[in-house]
Amino acid sequence: MNFDLFVIGGGSAGVRCARIAAGHGARVGIAESRFWGGTCVNIGCVPKKFLVMAAEYGALAEDARRFGWDVEAKSHNWSALLAAKDKEIARLNGIYRRLLENAGATIFDARATFIDAHTLDVGGQRITAERIVIATGGHPTGLDIPGAEHAIVSDDAFFLPEMPKRVAVIGSGYIAVEFAGVFAGLGAATHLVYRQPLPLRGFDEDIRAALAETLAGNGITLHPGALPTAISLTDDGKRLALNNGTALDVDLVFFATGRAANTKGLNLDAAGVNTGAKGEIPVDDAFATSAPHIYALGDVTDRLNLTPVATAQGHALADTLFGNNPRGVSLENVPTAVFSIPPIATVGLTEEEAAKRGEVTIFLSRFTPMRHTLTGRARKTLMKLVVDKATNKVLGAHMLGEDAPEIMQGIAVAITAGATKADFDRTIGIHPTAAEEFVTMRTQTRVAGPGIGAV
Ligand SMILES: Cc1cc2nc3c(=O)[nH]c(=O)nc-3n(C[C@H](O)[C@H](O)[C@H](O)COP(=O)(O)OP(=O)(O)OC[C@H]3O[C@@H](n4cnc5c(N)ncnc54)[C@H](O)[C@@H]3O)c2cc1C
Repeated sequence: MNFDLFVIGGGSAGVRCARIAAGHGARVGIAESRFWGGTCVNIGCVPKKFLVMAAEYGALAEDARRFGWDVEAKSHNWSALLAAKDKEIARLNGIYRRLLENAGATIFDARATFIDAHTLDVGGQRITAERIVIATGGHPTGLDIPGAEHAIVSDDAFFLPEMPKRVAVIGSGYIAVEFAGVFAGLGAATHLVYRQPLPLRGFDEDIRAALAETLAGNGITLHPGALPTAISLTDDGKRLALNNGTALDVDLVFFATGRAANTKGLNLDAAGVNTGAKGEIPVDDAFATSAPHIYALGDVTDRLNLTPVATAQGHALADTLFGNNPRGVSLENVPTAVFSIPPIATVGLTEEEAAKRGEVTIFLSRFTPMRHTLTGRARKTLMKLVVDKATNKVLGAHMLGEDAPEIMQGIAVAITAGATKADFDRTIGIHPTAAEEFVTMRTQTRVAGPGIGAV
């Protein structure tokens, strides 16, 4: 065999797994067909956050005037932003390559496909490996409607030649909400079209309702309960038809309607690896596929599609196989953020999930953050704790407001450690911050539980 371990895909999961396994002394090969660092670094978390930051500056410049600054955000240079973003990402690509090389892994800038259960075709080369990891990630999927070819997906959004003036974003998951904020913040007339009554299905209902208000407050036109039916070309752009009879004339239609696993073309049948209904690869707790020496990690398994989950899985598998430290990765209490403007962050159970399991006490606070008492911007912060009535354990924390993701990382430590509401209460706050509200909420808002409505 050429390698002890061969990793297909140089994204978050694959790079971490290959690097740690090589560090443990294994003979490791890794193939990446497109860009080192994968989705997160190139067309996901990292460039997305740069775009969100760019979008925030416009409002910050306006707000600065209320603090005495004589500034004005006159216009935005989209090409300058993309050039700065591309430069930083090229630097990160290099870092990922070097990390692998320094760890002693053999790098292939090539596509890998299975020939049989231990043999791969890697850019025309026949490679054999004792164990194989599939970490090929996912790709965005659009809607099957007439004119769909005129729409873009998130992969394209990072390379638009110019900033559109009128945009329709379709979908209401985190990618849809984030990009609507980017386009609106950079000055486009922005529509958000979605099937549900509120955006961000699966998130806490109070957060969803507050987000809808916030998006509208940011000037985004919301189209809840609407389904796109067709896209046609007009003299100066595109027309998006909705099933409620509305037609939106825009420059850009953006499908943020979901993602699917990258398993097509891998020739998985030849390796005995089964896939699920949507093309994802089911795995057991030790990341093994239906072929016991072939593993799958990260988005290709379509469980919790987040970078820190993918890297944690890659690390755990490498430690298990070559580091004499067998372990899995718990998918409970995984904190997550939505980089809307302002952002959302959450950890643990929503009120709805928790109330199905037992009685819970809800603590909720909605207030104008200190900055906006001076700016006058109508932008409220929402913070919420979901507490188990029987044990007093904090089961969930949710926030919409400035710095929510930065605040939530610490709250996630407390919840992972099993903190009770009494532990939160005896923690001294940091003043003056929004974060201190999480340790000073004393008045219960309501009790919820199986069969109990809000009281
Ligand atoms: C717009 C967007 C924003 C996001 N924002 C966030 C965020 O804020 N926070 C967060 O935690 N997560 C975010 N994510 C999710 C995050 O990017 C993914 O969860 C993460 O990248 C998954 O890592 P992975 O290694 O499983 O797959 P990927 O990072 O997708 O890596 C898979 C790699 O495999 C390569 N590949 C595929 N097939 C082959 C083959 N046959 N041979 C060789 N190479 C192959 C691909 O080119 C790719 O580089 C975002 C995703 C998107 C799309």
